[in-house]
Amino acid sequence: MDKYVVIGNPVAHSRSPLIHARFASQTGASLEYSRLLAPLDDFAGAASSFFASGGLGANVTVPFKEHAARWVDVLATPAEQAFAVNTIFLDRGRRIGTNTDGTGLVRDLEDNLGWSLGGRRVLLLGAGGAASGVMGPLLACRPDRLHVANRTPDRALQLIDRFARDSGAAQLASSGLAELPEMEGGFDIVINATSAGLNDRVPEMPGALVVGARCYDMVYGRDTAFCRWAREAGAAAVSDGLGMLVEQAAEAFCIWRGVLPETRPVIAELRASQA
Ligand code: NAP
Repeated sequence: MDKYVVIGNPVAHSRSPLIHARFASQTGASLEYSRLLAPLDDFAGAASSFFASGGLGANVTVPFKEHAARWVDVLATPAEQAFAVNTIFLDRGRRIGTNTDGTGLVRDLEDNLGWSLGGRRVLLLGAGGAASGVMGPLLACRPDRLHVANRTPDRALQLIDRFARDSGAAQLASSGLAELPEMEGGFDIVINATSAGLNDRVPEMPGALVVGARCYDMVYGRDTAFCRWAREAGAAAVSDGLGMLVEQAAEAFCIWRGVLPETRPVIAELRASQA
């Protein structure tokens, strides 16, 4: 049977095995997708053993996306831009690392939620692996403005510097979270790519900035801290990141198996299990 894994630490909570099992049954694929807990100091050892035992592909999750970017033989463009790998596949014996997070986010925003990005003023909160993974695909949608705000302002500045050449028509800017109250004008779409929600916290910023905006939290769960906060502050709409999770998985599945599975029934099933 064709073997795939998600490698992380911790990894027991991962929904990826269920998602890929549903994709496999939809497409008639015979495959085994499991969780692989790698030691914090030995991603390379765990990944090498898996591929040496005949594994065909891997997803990579926290905290190994950068480790994976160093471990693969070749970085495909989205992973090279982000220096973060969430999907590994084999091509003529070479290990190729790519990143499907950005495609997953854009498909969830535009196709599932109907929040088009073209011409919009977008605020991206955070400058870690998730934020860097989505920068390229967000810019490819040609927003009017993309502002990256991070608790540590230097990281936001470094992030936009890396994408300055690919900004297209968008005005690209950065700041600390503390400087956000002084920003001119508002935002149409606010994307929370910080990990604050994992501790049930919200990035410290004024609620006035999200009034009338569509607010997306990459963290997923029944009602995340950021979704609750944004709704109470007057956001026009809120969504957690469950759709992104399923869409990035679908893109990985397509890379491995050559067929893009249906995501909506899987999102609906996972939502029902959260209720
Ligand atoms: P990361 O590389 O560790 O980066 C964490 C980011 O969050 C940094 O920008 C950090 O700011 C910021 N941060 C942490 N705590 C904060 C707080 N209390 N207030 C304000 N900012 C805070 O993590 P990551 O890989 O980017 O992941 C970020 C989140 O996205 C995680 O929750 C992850 O689960 C989620 N994610 C979801 C999907 C999906 O499919 N839905 C995919 C990828 C990631 P500093 O730079 O100042 O430390």
